[in-house]
Amino acid sequence: MAEGTQDALAFGPDVRIGFLGGGQLGRMTIQAALDLDMRIEVLDPDPQCPCARIAHQFTQGDLNDAEAVIAWGRSLDVVTVEIENVSTEGLTALKAMGVKVLPDPAHLALIRDKGLQKQFYAEHGIPTSDFALVEDGRAEALSRGLPVVQKLRTGGYDGRGVQVIRTEEEARYAFDAPSVLEDAVDIEKELSVIVARSTTGEVKTYPVVESVFNELNLVDYLVAPARISEAVEAEARRVALSVVEAMDFVGLLAVELFLDKEGNILVNEVAPRAHNSGHHTIEACGTSQFEQHLRAILGLPLGDTAQRSAAAMLNLIGGAGANGVPLYTGLAAALAEPGLHPHIYGKVAVREGRKMGHVTVLADSPDAAEQRVLALRDHISTVHAH
Ligand code: ADP
Repeated sequence: MAEGTQDALAFGPDVRIGFLGGGQLGRMTIQAALDLDMRIEVLDPDPQCPCARIAHQFTQGDLNDAEAVIAWGRSLDVVTVEIENVSTEGLTALKAMGVKVLPDPAHLALIRDKGLQKQFYAEHGIPTSDFALVEDGRAEALSRGLPVVQKLRTGGYDGRGVQVIRTEEEARYAFDAPSVLEDAVDIEKELSVIVARSTTGEVKTYPVVESVFNELNLVDYLVAPARISEAVEAEARRVALSVVEAMDFVGLLAVELFLDKEGNILVNEVAPRAHNSGHHTIEACGTSQFEQHLRAILGLPLGDTAQRSAAAMLNLIGGAGANGVPLYTGLAAALAEPGLHPHIYGKVAVREGRKMGHVTVLADSPDAAEQRVLALRDHISTVHAH
């Protein structure tokens, strides 16, 4: 095949790219795709999901139904995900039919199960907190001593399915399901590194980000670049790359890390897709994580990941009791501020704890950016309209 023909096939309106999942991550990827006239087709169970009205083609269907995934994906060129809880059986069948499935279904199956993930790190010498896998987390909650962090092996997300057990009383409320019981880390900072690895083998990492979580275990805000020493920055990137290499992963991998009080970097978990900790890359880095994902799976050169400005990002999360049509009080007034970029995800209903949008602010330093989001946090509320 001539070079030119290959180039023409690399991207453009004729390449059919499918996304399993139509939430905000898919939506921001569609925004990036438009610049390259890439057309994204989406499968999601919810006809009112954030991608439904803007996807090139939207199909309603169950992401965990192998038949539905196969029927939707069989005529596509490339299939990827914005969520890992999908039918890997369906994706494996698509791969066998010649559809490019990236990330690989085997990686999705490994990552979806927190127990398999932890075993993988242990087997490959990747630093992570010590753990045990148990069949019934409630019956065995006290087997490793307290405090202990219990995680459901599958099905949890955004902090649901994770609990810290500090007392015997709390152990009575442990999940009675197959779980990981892991040592509680004495956390100094929660860091993350997004790594892109293309089908060509090219690899790039983004600068390390620090995330601050709220009481629901959702990312409250992030600061980028992280305020850490050069040595910790280098170690975080090294550990993140070692996960990608050990897995032989292709696509975008978000590696969530703990920096403990002794200065050790430990892997918490990974996500095989765009991630909340990379939202600031849209405005603050040479290439957004969303465009990078597309470049990686299509074998295009990876974009520049260098950060052009310090940034912070505030998640707009449904407040206590929110339930109905969303309303963002204080946001309109904030739009007057320079270097402030809102992203509202187009969800039709707000609920308590639901991620509805985010705001990125740019500033001269990470500290200044953090101060800006802390001030915004006091003025913006995500509620429902009356
Ligand atoms: P999810 O996949 O639901 O986001 P995580 O595994 O990332 O769950 O855990 C959610 C949060 O719980 C983490 O961001 C961290 O704050 C806390 N956490 C998880 N594991 C540990 C641990 N071993 N020690 C201390 N805190 C932890």
